Amino acid sequence: MGTLLSVSSVVAALCFILALAGLARQDTAERGNVFGVVGMIVAVVTAIASTLMSSQHSALVTLLLIVVAMGGGACIGIVKARSVEMIAMPELIAILHSFVGLTAVLIGYSSFVQEWQKGTVSELDGFHLGEIHIGIFIGAVTVTGSVVAWLKLAGKISGAPLVLPARHVLNLVAVIVCVVLLVVFVWTASWWSLIVMTVLALLLGVHLVAAIGGGDMPVVVSMLNSYSGWAAAATGFMLGNSLLIITGALVGSSGAYLSAIMCRAMNRSFVSVILGGFGSDGGSAGAAAGADPTATHTTISAAETAELLSGARRVVIVPGYGMAVAHAQYPVAELTQKLRDKGVDVVFGIHPVAGRLPGHMNVLLAEAKVPYDIVLDMDEINDDFPDVDAVLVIGANDTVNPIAEEPGSPIAGMPVLKVWEAEKVIVLKRSMGAGYAGVQNPLFVKENTSMLLGDAKESVTSVIQSL
Ligand code: NDP
Repeated sequence: MGTLLSVSSVVAALCFILALAGLARQDTAERGNVFGVVGMIVAVVTAIASTLMSSQHSALVTLLLIVVAMGGGACIGIVKARSVEMIAMPELIAILHSFVGLTAVLIGYSSFVQEWQKGTVSELDGFHLGEIHIGIFIGAVTVTGSVVAWLKLAGKISGAPLVLPARHVLNLVAVIVCVVLLVVFVWTASWWSLIVMTVLALLLGVHLVAAIGGGDMPVVVSMLNSYSGWAAAATGFMLGNSLLIITGALVGSSGAYLSAIMCRAMNRSFVSVILGGFGSDGGSAGAAAGADPTATHTTISAAETAELLSGARRVVIVPGYGMAVAHAQYPVAELTQKLRDKGVDVVFGIHPVAGRLPGHMNVLLAEAKVPYDIVLDMDEINDDFPDVDAVLVIGANDTVNPIAEEPGSPIAGMPVLKVWEAEKVIVLKRSMGAGYAGVQNPLFVKENTSMLLGDAKESVTSVIQSL
């Protein structure tokens, strides 16, 4: 039986690796998901079988406990997954990360309490004590970091960065004290060193994420994804479960890789993200350095937009968070098809942090059956704008903000889609308001820009009707 369980663990681990490989590309993503599901079923069955084998209680009681726990969790999960809006996914992901962290903390404490109750704490080897301490540390940072990220993304607290004086020193001191407490714990197995470290780690999680603000939040989401993976791997060490170690390491390292990609997309340093205090060194978020306060915008009607688009040779559509809010992806797909039928060359330009989730726009466009081959990444399209007749910016703002090229602006250095280099830009949004980073956008008052104000879905539908 033991051999069968080991083989199942290897099969599940292989499925997870194949799942990640499949998810790397849109056309293989579905296959990747199937591997993920199969791997997870094998993993859950293996975990249940090994729990039944090692449980001190009768198999029936253990099974009943597992069914109640998993059934309860599954019911809540299904209800939540069915009701969540696509635009609320980042906050859901953030709060789910906090559960992984909480699990690591609870398992760490429960494994120590068990030994303590049996009076065998003094017999524990240093390695196991170290596992407990490190597992609880990573878990505690993940719990509070994820809760703060959830509060920020859900708009329940301000998204502005909390800039405490000497914040890097504070983080460094907290980490050093936790390392000292680790040594003390391994040496003495004392309760106080574990509890003090937990409190410090919880505070560190709050501070690390509170210090990150505005447009830099995407990196927080992927970073917490990575932390939750390492928390799961630490749990695997505490439970002696190799599959959990492998799975946690896969999530941790792919999350770290995704963070690195997001950092590159935002032109930020990975180290500064890991250390926190990221995204807070810009100017005032409300100030739009370089924006002329006297400049006014021009508007355009849906009929004029339709006329302009049907006469264009090459059109680029740049979607953003507003397209998700308006659920405009279906009319956008229809508009694309209509224009292509008229012989207009239409492609999409996707910014890596458009929307509120890595890959957010790609998911929406795939849902609306927009062909993959016309959905281009920022790097693939950014040099082509001078050769584009018209750009349709649909609910995007920060990702097309030319102010990112102004030193000292809050989003300075972030690569953006240079839509203003095209002959004509039409921006679909409801007002002249700022985007997620709270920065005014001088694109809206440029000479070659016209605003088609209103809900993106209604505006696109009107354009289709006029076409
Ligand atoms: P922004 O969030 O900058 O702007 C979206 C715009 O959509 C708003 O200005 C809003 O203007 C408009 N809008 C909202 N609702 C509608 C509607 N119904 N119809 C038409 N327009 C609408 O979007 P971007 O995608 O350009 O940028 C994403 C931002 O989010 C970046 O700052 C990024 O860093 C951040 N972020 C990204 C994450 C990710 O992983 N991708 C995660 C967390 C944050 P108005 O109200 O006037 O209509």
